Amino acid sequence: MEEIPLWYWLAVFFVTGACVGSFYNVIVYRMPRGISLINPPSHCPLCKKHIPLYLNLPIVGWLILRGKSACCKQPISVIYPIGESLCGLLGALALYAATGFTTDFTAPVQNIEVWADALALFWLLLGIYPVSAVDFKYKLIPDSISVGGIVAGLAISFIPGGMTPVQSLVGALVAGGGLYLLGFVATKLLHKDAMGFGDVKLLAGFGALMGFSRAIEILVVASILGIIVMVPYAKIAERRAAKKASSKKSSQNEDEEVSGQIPFGPFLAFAAPFMYLWGNTLLEWYFSFLE
Ligand SMILES: [Zn+2]
Repeated sequence: MEEIPLWYWLAVFFVTGACVGSFYNVIVYRMPRGISLINPPSHCPLCKKHIPLYLNLPIVGWLILRGKSACCKQPISVIYPIGESLCGLLGALALYAATGFTTDFTAPVQNIEVWADALALFWLLLGIYPVSAVDFKYKLIPDSISVGGIVAGLAISFIPGGMTPVQSLVGALVAGGGLYLLGFVATKLLHKDAMGFGDVKLLAGFGALMGFSRAIEILVVASILGIIVMVPYAKIAERRAAKKASSKKSSQNEDEEVSGQIPFGPFLAFAAPFMYLWGNTLLEWYFSFLE
């Protein structure tokens, strides 16, 4: 493993990311239709014919078929290979960022700590899409990402060089427990649900991946991002509601739409890989104003 050059590993991370993207495509198609993710195996949604594995390969399958299904020649949306390519790029970016954006692609990866960072970033970057999409649509965060993050963090902590398993465990407990307490207090004060338990588990995962202090910083950055996005959004929603109310007697449905809160998960999911990479830089920049 010591002699394998970086470019090779970047390709491996790209392919792995593209496979994750391909799996996302399956989830996006099957979940809303109530079809199991494993059974039946891959089949054409139009003529129900089985799709052989080699035509199911991410990106490559679509290119071989030139965007038409092999069985019934129906067009396959270009969205699929684009999504897979983006996930592949995010996967490669995870490793590339972990090397500190080196320019030497032929040198092998020497530092073992790079792998811990690369795997953590892989998890965080590829988690942005499912966390955001599911939270927007269903107002919940999938356990496979949040609880999965705790498991991934603990597993990665066994790679020497980064956090120890104890630090990872404490990170998960303090970050998750802290947010839970905060939500509990806020709920008592505001007399309404202030924090979803999905957010608590997600932050616990961040704590397991990068320690509790960084997880708390992510919470702060995500809250600031949330306010920056939310204030204009609320204004627009308000104006739209006013327009609708004046144009016709509005139904209850529209009122619901307006009052629907923006989920917090996407902000956490975006802030996490950013803070993993540039948390220290951001803090230095921030503290330079206080001196
Ligand atoms: Zn077909």
